[in-house]
Amino acid sequence: MDKFLRRKYTSSRTDDEEPSTSVTKNLKKVVKRKHDEDYMKYGFSWCGDETAPRPQCILCGDQLSNESMVPSKLKRHLYSSHPSCANKDKQYSKRCLEQNKK
Ligand SMILES: [Zn+2]
Repeated sequence: MDKFLRRKYTSSRTDDEEPSTSVTKNLKKVVKRKHDEDYMKYGFSWCGDETAPRPQCILCGDQLSNESMVPSKLKRHLYSSHPSCANKDKQYSKRCLEQNKK
């Protein structure tokens, strides 16, 4: 009986020593979103790492997460935080950006 239990324990230990497959799976799933020139019309530039840029609001300087680098979320920020700028175009955002740099 004692022998049997010990053998079972060692066999289950070797199973635990192969976690490498699950680790590589997790790494592959991470998708980084890139900034698009078109996002300027929502009033968004970007900042941070080029491989994982974060959208930055030109109007208030707010930084969102990389996952928020999608038109719907940028639009939501624009409409809820800056409704008066919702109808401005890309050129307006660019002018704001230029002014901020100065
Ligand atoms: Zn803003």
